[in-house]
Amino acid sequence: MIPFEYTHASSPDDAIAAVAGVRTSKFVAGGTTLIDLMKLDVERPTRLVDINALGGADSSLASVSELPSGGLRLGALARMSDVAWEARVRERFPLVSQSLLLAASGQLRNMATMGGNILQRTRCPYFRDTATACNKREPGTGCSALTGITRTHAILGTSDKCVATHPSDFAVALVALDATVHVRGKGGDRTIPIADFHLLPGQHPERENALAPGELITAIDLPALPFARHSLYLKVRDRASYAFALASAAVAVDVQAGVIRAARVALGGVGTKPWRSKAAERALTGRVPSAALFRSASSVALQGATARKDNAFKVRLAQRTLERALVELTS
Ligand code: SF4
Repeated sequence: MIPFEYTHASSPDDAIAAVAGVRTSKFVAGGTTLIDLMKLDVERPTRLVDINALGGADSSLASVSELPSGGLRLGALARMSDVAWEARVRERFPLVSQSLLLAASGQLRNMATMGGNILQRTRCPYFRDTATACNKREPGTGCSALTGITRTHAILGTSDKCVATHPSDFAVALVALDATVHVRGKGGDRTIPIADFHLLPGQHPERENALAPGELITAIDLPALPFARHSLYLKVRDRASYAFALASAAVAVDVQAGVIRAARVALGGVGTKPWRSKAAERALTGRVPSAALFRSASSVALQGATARKDNAFKVRLAQRTLERALVELTS
């Protein structure tokens, strides 16, 4: 780990000023990704700005609050465990609560924040090993996964520069809900739809999100969606706890008079970014729920998947995960 300066900020504007002009500076809150990667020499910030005290100055930054529309605002510094067990989140957005509780470990969930969760970096083993080539870690050096072991890698949204999956479960629930990310920078406040927040790798896998340098996430809004009360996050992984998804599905379905009036479908563990499938939603909408319908919608959701030799199983696994989520939700 290289030497670095550690400072504390007491307000969002202090924090933004503290990183301004220093491209190698980083905000740190829970630190559950960043400190790990610093120990591995993957992240090499020269200045860390601790933003944990921001929630003391403005409690909305670290809590769950009501939106006038009936949605909920999740403060960027709210901890995963607090949000997961929040009564309004559990009642109105069960898929959000489930996505948080199925992630990481109890200790990590007590530390990790909402803002940090959606910024967490891939678990591609080559990215975390500085002895190997990785376009995401060092642009232009190559992608070791393309000729290496790809069992956990992506099958949707890949490029010839990177095939790494996005690791967040929570972000999959957010894309299903059309959440909005609030950010503040030197130029003021702005909002970013979650669908636009994470970037496909394309030719620049080092660019992972739509944040401008020095911008700070302040909150994530869950818009009112009455049928999200009827939602589910299903995660399939190698072991029952403390493992990243091989495949996951975030689903919400509005069934009235025996017909699906609206549906939300997103997949995790298979995409280079949290993967919304509007095609699967269209395939479900206006139809009578049935095993055959769910099978065909799941097949639609995986159209365009590109598997490599070790992860071909993910196509079927993701289809079956989505099918099972839809069956569980509508049974
Ligand atoms: Fe790096 Fe992406 Fe290739 Fe993994 S898949 S080695 S993160 S470029």
